[in-house]
Amino acid sequence: MKDYVFGIDVGGTTIKCGLFQADGTLLEKWEIPTRTENNGDQILPDVAKTVLKKIKEKGIAKEDVAGVGIDLPGPVNEKGEIAVAVNLNWGYKDIVAELGGALGGIPVKAANDANAAALGEMWGGGGRGTKNLIMVTLGTGVGGGIIVDGKIVAGAHGAGGEIGHACVDPTETAVCNCGNRGCLEQMASATGIVRLAKRYLATYQGKTMLNPERISAKSVYDALKAGDEAATAIVEEVSAYLGNALAMFACVVDPEVIVIGGGVSKAGEILVDGVKKYYRRDAFISCKETPIVLAELGNDAGIYGAAKLALG
Ligand SMILES: [Zn+2]
Repeated sequence: MKDYVFGIDVGGTTIKCGLFQADGTLLEKWEIPTRTENNGDQILPDVAKTVLKKIKEKGIAKEDVAGVGIDLPGPVNEKGEIAVAVNLNWGYKDIVAELGGALGGIPVKAANDANAAALGEMWGGGGRGTKNLIMVTLGTGVGGGIIVDGKIVAGAHGAGGEIGHACVDPTETAVCNCGNRGCLEQMASATGIVRLAKRYLATYQGKTMLNPERISAKSVYDALKAGDEAATAIVEEVSAYLGNALAMFACVVDPEVIVIGGGVSKAGEILVDGVKKYYRRDAFISCKETPIVLAELGNDAGIYGAAKLALG
């Protein structure tokens, strides 16, 4: 019986690991450091070592392991090849071949980290019970994952679900990390919200509890909760960009649920309410009532999604 599955979430500083039962029960999770030195050539061997050690420690037969799923911070195609991962000092790698070899033939599946998080939320989080989902992750950047019929949309270049780089304002003059202008990431990431807030406050004449010198996405949402007028206007702008963009993606995917995660989503239901207002305004009639919910798995979404990926 293939009773066990591993989910591995590789970040720039730590590698999160999870041992799951095939039914989705998380049995154990742990972390190891990401060794990015020497072109990160020890990262996959380290993953193999920790997985094999855990199998031995738990007395699990190798035949009872359905597979190892791994997610990575870079574009991963459906074959499990990554083009580049700047945070890991990696160029091209065939993850399935390299990790599979080091694991002595245990099947390996690989995905982009934001895509895996979406799959994780579908399996054990805010999108439980659905097969079609859009997830947007509002952190330092804006990540995204699209699941259609239970499968990640990885795309031809591994860039499927790169919601953060959809152009939402072609007139924007500031440049995004990707080199384009007007990306959703420039408006709705934690740094994007700060940018819009500073821009708004530069000409705002009224009273506000926001201090442009010490502003964060959290302070903007905290001020909104306290009824601050400037924060209300700033969040309206952020919500309009997000709600409009999600309405457009819904026209393409028609998801059963839209999940919002990432550090900024800690603001809670007030954030969802703002997004819903503009989503409902702009969505196609058939998709207007699509639920928009908060992610539930936090930093564990990646290990859940990677494990689900390995189960197929
Ligand atoms: Zn961009």
